[in-house]
Amino acid sequence: MSESTETTEAAEPQTYGFNAEVRQLLDLVIHSLYSDRDVFLRELISNASDALDKARVACLQDASLRAAAGEPGIDIRIDPIASTLTISDNGIGLTSDEAREHLGTIASSGTKAFAKALKEDSEHNLIGQFGVGFYAALMVSDQVTVISRSAQPEAEPMVWACDGSTEYTLAPAERPDRGTDVILKLREDAFEYLDAEKLSAIVKRYSEFVSYPIRVNEEQVNEPKALWTRKPQDVEDSEYVEFYKQTSHDWADPATWLHIHADAPVQYKALLYVPAMVPMDMNYSDGRRPLKLYARRVLILEEARELLPEWLRFVRGVVDSEDLQLNVSRELVQQNLRVRELRHQLISRVLRHLKQLAKKEPDEYAAIWKDYGSTLKEGFAKRPGDNDPDSTDKLTGLVRFRSTRFEGPDEQVSFAEYVEAMPEGQDTIWYLTGTDYKTVARSPHLEGFKKKGYEVLLLTDPVDEWVVQSLTEFDGKPLKAASRGDLDEQLEDVDEEQHQGLLGWLKEVLASEVKDVRISARLTSSASVLVDDEHGMSANMQRILQQVNQGMPAGQRVLEINPDHALVRSLASLHGAGRAEQAQPLAMLLVDQARLTEGHLTDPAALVERLQVLSELAAAGLGSHAGPVLDHPVAPEATTVLENQPTE
Ligand code: ADP
Ligand code: MG
Repeated sequence: MSESTETTEAAEPQTYGFNAEVRQLLDLVIHSLYSDRDVFLRELISNASDALDKARVACLQDASLRAAAGEPGIDIRIDPIASTLTISDNGIGLTSDEAREHLGTIASSGTKAFAKALKEDSEHNLIGQFGVGFYAALMVSDQVTVISRSAQPEAEPMVWACDGSTEYTLAPAERPDRGTDVILKLREDAFEYLDAEKLSAIVKRYSEFVSYPIRVNEEQVNEPKALWTRKPQDVEDSEYVEFYKQTSHDWADPATWLHIHADAPVQYKALLYVPAMVPMDMNYSDGRRPLKLYARRVLILEEARELLPEWLRFVRGVVDSEDLQLNVSRELVQQNLRVRELRHQLISRVLRHLKQLAKKEPDEYAAIWKDYGSTLKEGFAKRPGDNDPDSTDKLTGLVRFRSTRFEGPDEQVSFAEYVEAMPEGQDTIWYLTGTDYKTVARSPHLEGFKKKGYEVLLLTDPVDEWVVQSLTEFDGKPLKAASRGDLDEQLEDVDEEQHQGLLGWLKEVLASEVKDVRISARLTSSASVLVDDEHGMSANMQRILQQVNQGMPAGQRVLEINPDHALVRSLASLHGAGRAEQAQPLAMLLVDQARLTEGHLTDPAALVERLQVLSELAAAGLGSHAGPVLDHPVAPEATTVLENQPTE
């Protein structure tokens, strides 16, 4: 703060260094050959338009701000003798501090992410997407001067200048009114831009949808129009696409859009888009949310976050209400009943649109789900104040999951498709949660279901835990975890009677590891599996909570064993022969194996020791299970190791 005040008082310009990200960027802008240099003008006009938007919104809320001289607009002037181009606006302006912050550094995290992406992908013309548009001026000029006066009543005018080196200067300047002039000293190879006709053509091509008049040498070249006010049937797809690109800072075509003219229950018009490229700052809390709120065609908020919930934060565009007051402040917008009703309508329209898209263009929808599915699923988490049971129902129709129906992780199934394919006798929707596809797809929990021909949904997104917590049924069919509870009645009748002795003994020796031991209806080829308590928290949920540092006591789980497996049979015969001492490490191994298939082992060293015992026992003749073991004495070394086993 103090530094810039000094600058204002000193007559000499002060010199500052650009930060590292800007330098990188400048390097790229100046030295890369962009196929289309014309975009520099689009960037500067878009900044002028943003500055006018900001001024309009700020003045609605703060009457002390400096008013504009004349109507809001953008002027481009050519000086062929000095070979300069000046782009002027009477918008919000910049203070010296703001110039240093916005033109000297790349501050926001979203922009940093962009700068990184730019470094990795300089093939594509990413300029203008994430707050780097201004520097595009250096594609055509070797000196850029910005003379500006902020709308803040006490702000002094200032001049900022840079010649593409690693430094820029700041000094006091003259400017009677608020607004900004960006003066470009054109490079010799860019003198083509001194031609008014050429400039007008560029403006028409790139800035058709700017909502302020743009003049080239005092002649207006655009016809500001609010595309969303036109009847949807009169608008061409190409116009929707152009409008999106020009207003959203995105150079790629949108994935889908919807244009709404609604009269009841609230009167509004909206033009909403889903970007085809996931906005890089989507998951940053300070990321852009370009969803503009207009009241009868007058902009009142640039980022109307309260119009859509966080789980629709990737939707951008404009909403124009017929019955909002012009002077609503951000705080009032939050409380405004009309805004709440509007929000309700918008959510429902967006979800309906996605549902229709899923039906008509399943491939396009699959691409959208791939990019935004996790974000949409956040909508299942119940938030106070967001009591919209309606949207949960609609969201349910939109979710897609991987499933045992497919060989790989790429294809997905909806709840409706799942239920449709349920065989006779299946009355439950089964799912299995876990950290990654490979682990869940190979989980022993699935064995019994496969044998029965039951499909299991494979949920590997952390947010899925919240989905299954809030969704307890679909189409009257309960949703249940394949890893939970006793499946005796659901899958296969098991006869515990004949294994009572072994089970009782296992419960005793594994008492500190598991809550219970039972014969499994789930398993066909694996020896053992760990099962979550019917009503407790799932193991996956515990892992997720542990990751976010919410210390949870490790749950008490149930060990299910497969009586037909060789390991279990050997164990049974060892136990039957009263060789408990040798049977004990094998019993522990059943728990180890179950943990291993979940990719989650608490004490690997202990397992290695037990494996060693096992291989020594095998060498001593255990390999062929049952009988022979009992006839062969256990090797002395193995006995030693056995005695060292932790028995707690
Ligand atoms: P972006 O427009 O995406 O934020 P730019 O690199 O185009 O990024 O501009 C950087 C910043 O410089 C803007 O966010 C704004 O704060 C400031 N700025 C640029 N041009 C103007 C202008 N004509 N009037 C006021 N501020 C401006
Ligand atoms: Mg910009």
